[in-house]
Amino acid sequence: MNKLHEIKDEFVLKIQPVASSEELDVIRVEFLGKKGKVQELLNALGAVPKEERREMGQALNELKNAISSEIEEKGKRIKEAELNAKIAMTTLYDASLPYEAKSGSLHPITKIINELEDIFASMGFSIEDYSEAVSDFECFTSLNIPEHHPARDMQDTFYLENESGQNPKLLKTHTSAAQNALMKKYGAPLRAIFPGRCFRNEATDATHENTFFQMEGMMIDEGVSISNLIYFMKTMLSKVFERDVEVRLRPGYFPFVEPGFELDIKCLICGGQESESGAKGCPSCKHSGWLELCPCGMIHPNVLKQGDIDTEKYSGFAFGLGLTRLAMMKFAVKDIRVFNGGKIEELKIKA
Ligand SMILES: [Zn+2]
Repeated sequence: MNKLHEIKDEFVLKIQPVASSEELDVIRVEFLGKKGKVQELLNALGAVPKEERREMGQALNELKNAISSEIEEKGKRIKEAELNAKIAMTTLYDASLPYEAKSGSLHPITKIINELEDIFASMGFSIEDYSEAVSDFECFTSLNIPEHHPARDMQDTFYLENESGQNPKLLKTHTSAAQNALMKKYGAPLRAIFPGRCFRNEATDATHENTFFQMEGMMIDEGVSISNLIYFMKTMLSKVFERDVEVRLRPGYFPFVEPGFELDIKCLICGGQESESGAKGCPSCKHSGWLELCPCGMIHPNVLKQGDIDTEKYSGFAFGLGLTRLAMMKFAVKDIRVFNGGKIEELKIKA
């Protein structure tokens, strides 16, 4: 009986570290094989005194069964681990396995810019690019917003440092900052659009961002009037949305235009309708049903003069289109922060 316990202890000790099918086979042969330790005792059973034989035989059989089922259990676990390892290896190295290729897409703002450039180019506008860091003169003074003008308070921005500390550049708050340079570069007559990234020191929420895109448009020629402005805006918006868009012009004050307007479009997300809960509009249009899209107006004579344009001969209109807002409307994006958020899935436009 002592021998029996010895075998059991030895088996428990030996099977514990086994980690492969090969090692397990060695153990199986050692204990259960024809010349194995259990069989040895079974063979010797004849020499056991008759009165102990029955008990001994029974104990040996129990040991044999216990070892056998333990080996079987261990074998199952090892097989499973070996299979998992194989799958892991296949996943890592098998280049022939099928996989879904993920293709990129253009950013919604880029799509809008491309589209608008095509529309305006077809109407004879040139497409201009301009720096994001501009001077105070370009961003404010040349646009009839002198120092200490209250309009500056609404456009707090980020000021860059320079070595001398004199006239630091700032991140432009609106694309209008390029008006002066373009007037001086091309003179009149002039038709140009200039899309660009703008910046404001702004607390962000669903409709406000510190970094956003605008597209400025400017037309200067003899006899340009408000009806030219309305014509171009209507043509452009109907092409962008590929349908009739309801717009409204409200008088608006911007120092660089006179008269100035605020062009609103009917919210395309909620359609200006009441929601199920009975609330008017949606968060995107601040529950008004309308979305401010575009300040516009006739360029103020002071601004033309700063750009060396003869105001006796020429007049012009300008508009600053909110590209980010336009993209929200066109692609029904409810939160402006999506555009700078970097989440690919949210930026994929089902166009
Ligand atoms: Zn709405």
